Amino acid sequence: MSNSTYDIVVLGGGSGGYACALRAVELGMSVLLVEKDKLGGTCLNRGCIPTKALLHAAEVADQTREAATFGVKARFEGIDLPGVHAYKDKVVSTTVKGLTGLIKSKGITIVDGEGRLTGPTSVTVGDTTYEGRHIVLATGSVPKSLPGLDIDGERVISSDHALTLDRIPQSVVVLGGGVIGVEFASVWRSFGAEVTVVEALPHLLPLEEETSSKRLERAFRKRGIKFELGARYESVKHTDSGVIVTLEGGKTLDAELMLVAVGRGPVSSGLGLEELGIEVERGFVKVDEYCRTNVESVSAVGDLIPTLQLAHVGFAEGILVAERLGGLDPAPIDYDGVPRITYSEPEVASVGITTKVAEERGLDTTSFTYDLAGNPRSKILGTQGEVKVIAQKDGPVLGIHMVGSRVGELITEGQLIYNWEALPSEVAQLIHPHPTQSEAIGEAHLALAGKPLHVHG
Ligand SMILES: Cc1cc2nc3c(=O)[nH]c(=O)nc-3n(C[C@H](O)[C@H](O)[C@H](O)COP(=O)(O)OP(=O)(O)OC[C@H]3O[C@@H](n4cnc5c(N)ncnc54)[C@H](O)[C@@H]3O)c2cc1C
Repeated sequence: MSNSTYDIVVLGGGSGGYACALRAVELGMSVLLVEKDKLGGTCLNRGCIPTKALLHAAEVADQTREAATFGVKARFEGIDLPGVHAYKDKVVSTTVKGLTGLIKSKGITIVDGEGRLTGPTSVTVGDTTYEGRHIVLATGSVPKSLPGLDIDGERVISSDHALTLDRIPQSVVVLGGGVIGVEFASVWRSFGAEVTVVEALPHLLPLEEETSSKRLERAFRKRGIKFELGARYESVKHTDSGVIVTLEGGKTLDAELMLVAVGRGPVSSGLGLEELGIEVERGFVKVDEYCRTNVESVSAVGDLIPTLQLAHVGFAEGILVAERLGGLDPAPIDYDGVPRITYSEPEVASVGITTKVAEERGLDTTSFTYDLAGNPRSKILGTQGEVKVIAQKDGPVLGIHMVGSRVGELITEGQLIYNWEALPSEVAQLIHPHPTQSEAIGEAHLALAGKPLHVHG
């Protein structure tokens, strides 16, 4: 038993857990953070950061191949995979080191080890029990599979394995056309692999605006990425050289390996939740809009709860809990207002709601789609895509949906527009710098406000 009682004991040092810890000490609380692996969790070590490093290497490869288009002489000789890994690992290790230093410098007590809830205010690690006035669960998520589908780490792999793969596969079947599947499909294609994405729903990135998914599909088709949509996985058979994947209906796909990217499941079993009577649904810890569980002294944040599985959502939930426990009065999160980015080539980015959701909510809408063909900066970059803005009739902007190289960086403006409930006519007043891709956002709002500028027809 440890003698001191902390204000907060946080279980899990990923995006949600460490953000909560940092904000809590800022507010004068004492915090103990339990982490069984590396600080930074999935995002830093096995998620956001390493995948984006791979995607950047992929972009460099594509640009080298296409150098002649821009009048530059360069020869693409191939991918030096150990070199790519060294670059990626350096980005990851220096970021983890920086974060670890930051957390330590703030006076947060870090405990290395696997923790378990042993009471409404206690967490036990090995033989030691730590007491907190409050416990914050932030144990995150791990790759999921389908019933009967064994991820062996050799021929059938998860994103964890894909990040450390020692070779570029000749061919891959990517099971799942969500964000993670689409990003790996993009990387592997740029590295020279034959890629087929299998998605059970009718489109890639099925939660995005349908027109964005269709744009992405068109771009992927041009890049030689194949996909099977509305296709359900049935079985996988190992062969000497790889796998044969069978889809419902009998179609088969041969490949060197299969990436299973069908989602991530919460890390909630074995934590002592049942014993304490903490309510769980499909493995996710149930919380209210303030991230409170049904046990008063226990909160939960991040991928462990059934909200958007994004690092910045984890940050926001961690901060919300710290501020609530610190006696402030934080507002609940508007999850529609969280920006979402898929960092493939081309990128897909959105904030707010889709046309489909607006219809489901009975909202009367209007929209305008600005084609990046009319945007000179996009032409210079050689990218195609669009910015679609959906607004309530005579009302504020409800959703911004974009496709194109680098558009992820633009969604932050979309975030301000949506979250400040701006009217198209108000955004139309703002002057966008020329020539930038952000002008496409300005143009879409000008058009919605009834004064289109660079718009044909
Ligand atoms: C391939 C991939 C790419 C991604 N890309 C992006 C992206 O570009 N942008 C984005 O916003 N999100 C991205 N994500 C999602 C993002 O990584 C997660 O949403 C985020 O990491 C969730 O944070 P968390 O704190 O809830 O959980 P995690 O980051 O999973 O952290 C949980 C931590 O708890 C620890 N832990 C678990 N159980 C215990 C225990 N019993 N005792 C002690 N410690 C424990 C784990 O070791 C882990 O460090 C990506 C994810 C993946 C897999």
